[in-house]
Amino acid sequence: MTVENGPAGGTVPVEDQPQYAQTAAYEWTERAYRLLLGGQLQARPFDADGVLSSHVWGDCPRCGHQLDHRQVHTAVAAGPGRQTGGRIIPPTLPTLEIDVPCGCRHTHSGAPDGTLGCGVSFRVEIVVGPTS
Ligand SMILES: [Zn+2]
Ligand SMILES: [Zn+2]
Repeated sequence: MTVENGPAGGTVPVEDQPQYAQTAAYEWTERAYRLLLGGQLQARPFDADGVLSSHVWGDCPRCGHQLDHRQVHTAVAAGPGRQTGGRIIPPTLPTLEIDVPCGCRHTHSGAPDGTLGCGVSFRVEIVVGPTS
């Protein structure tokens, strides 16, 4: 076992790709949140004929490759105010919690045959509010 200390805040160089590992460690959700703030990762809800979907795209927080994830949601959580990823979601706004797997088009070393992506999954939370 080696301890990984990734470059602070940067994307991972291609020659330094992480090995495939199935992980949903909270650090990736935190890193994804920082990428969202920086604009390297984007998340948008959209409504198509009354069906709520989400689209997440940008840099994978683990391997730095481009991912593009779409998901259809059947329920929107209109929960009480709570704190997530260091920010506070206002109690009045419904949010979508999206579990995003790495969907990059690269084969990482150690991945099962035919599996693309680095194996990470992380959570993105977006507010589905009035957008006026
Ligand atoms: Zn990757
Ligand atoms: Zn990845």
